[in-house]
Amino acid sequence: MDASTPTLASWEERAARLQIRNQALIDGRLVPAASGKSFDDISPRDGRVLTRVASCDAEDVDRAVAAARRSFESGVWREQHPRARKAVLLTLARLIEENAEELALLETLDMGKPIRDSLNIDVPLSARCVQYYAEAIDKLYDQVGPSGPGSMSLILREPLGVIGVVVPWNFPLMMAVWKVAPALAVGNSLVLKPAEQSPLTAIRLGELALEAGLPPGVLNVVPGFGETAGQAIGRHMDVDMLTFTGSTEVGKYFMRYSGESNLKRVSLECGGKTPHIVMPDAADLDRAAQEAAGGIFFNQGEVCNAGSRLLVHESIKDEFLAKVIAYGRSWVPGDPLDPATRMGALVDSRQHERVLGYIAKGQQEGAELKCGGAAARTDSGGYYIQPTVFDGVSPGMTIAQEEIFGPVLSTLTFRSTEEAFRIANDTIYGLAAAIWTKDISVAMKAAKTIKAGSVWINCFDAGDITTPFGGFKQSGFGRDKSLHALEKYTDLKSVWIEL
Ligand code: NAD
Repeated sequence: MDASTPTLASWEERAARLQIRNQALIDGRLVPAASGKSFDDISPRDGRVLTRVASCDAEDVDRAVAAARRSFESGVWREQHPRARKAVLLTLARLIEENAEELALLETLDMGKPIRDSLNIDVPLSARCVQYYAEAIDKLYDQVGPSGPGSMSLILREPLGVIGVVVPWNFPLMMAVWKVAPALAVGNSLVLKPAEQSPLTAIRLGELALEAGLPPGVLNVVPGFGETAGQAIGRHMDVDMLTFTGSTEVGKYFMRYSGESNLKRVSLECGGKTPHIVMPDAADLDRAAQEAAGGIFFNQGEVCNAGSRLLVHESIKDEFLAKVIAYGRSWVPGDPLDPATRMGALVDSRQHERVLGYIAKGQQEGAELKCGGAAARTDSGGYYIQPTVFDGVSPGMTIAQEEIFGPVLSTLTFRSTEEAFRIANDTIYGLAAAIWTKDISVAMKAAKTIKAGSVWINCFDAGDITTPFGGFKQSGFGRDKSLHALEKYTDLKSVWIEL
């Protein structure tokens, strides 16, 4: 290791020098909440207060929406030449890359994920996402309808106006840019509310967007709580569309807010309970086991499409589960700032208790705890949990049905393909599914039969920005990523011309 290789000590040193932005960003300026209130932003790494962040409520949301509306109606962004908007977003992508270490550090301190993931996954993928939508801007065409010789019809796509963006804490920057980038690309103005657990990268993103040349008021950031800032955006009469990632429970609130206010459009990316199916003919059981462990322990299991239900054919279950547990041993909870750490801290004490509660429930309901099952690094002051594997889980158990959102794997067995698919679909969720098999017809049958927005065959959580992502059933509706994401931030206008 040479002197320039980052170490725990060098990251700690950088963390001590960090200048954290902790205010709202409204109309191009960093401002405190109108009420003067702020809240503790606690690092799950050690339970210490990182900073106090502006606690926005309805008054701040009003100001942010007004700024967004002004910028939208003035045309300062949406009426810029596509080439000019593209240049701004390309600059933003470059600034994200140039500030990668700072953004990664903020993300890790704020929500507890390992610094190696923030640096190698969250930040570069966020930059790539912004770049992708920037490059799309001057390649989008409208349509001419087949209207016959005496007339001409144009089918035009228009931006919607003011978009509310409410996002969760598990991939704070990435979930924000999945929405912010396409919504900006087509000319909307935005009010972004990050989760109260992890507001720091969103504020910095807003600042970098200004630096990139985005006009003031086009991207406003209002940190605050769900019941106050989130609800105020959801119920606002001048927000045209609300795009949300988070729990199914809160997704339903946004439907209600919309119905009780201005019928704003709603797009929801909600929870999941991904079945990870292993057939006895899988070509490479070692690779499947490695992916099964990574699929639940990556990001501390705080992943909407985490492979939380392992469905294994009963003939190979013991052999396969032993491999999963062996691979799971490399997922040791550690200090998120240590570059060697693969599994960090859970986001806060509430989530920590929630996950431990599910582990207790699994045991009470008769599942067999094979490894883990307890808090870890308890002397750190942070919120760590051992990688946990349950065997003997039946489909009706709580840990087979509810989204745990932690490093807890529930193993179920099946005897036939039909039974595997039935169990896979036996959930309110439909975000993703995976299957390992050499049999192409079984693989394709899984793709057709399992109700999920993504189906992975002989891989897990694969894909890139070019493929749509989102759910069926109570995992929500609307898609992030790919050019399809642009559809929800625009609407069609028909123009009929008599010649
Ligand atoms: P959450 O639903 O509690 O919070 C998400 C956001 O909604 C936060 O910004 C929060 O402040 C806000 N919010 C909370 N209560 C609100 C209310 N009453 N009114 C308005 N806004 C409110 O979710 P979370 O705990 O932050 O994140 C975990 C959830 O996110 C999991 O269910 C996970 O599956 C889901 N998720 C889904 C995807 C996906 O793409 N489908 C991706 C990541 C996370």
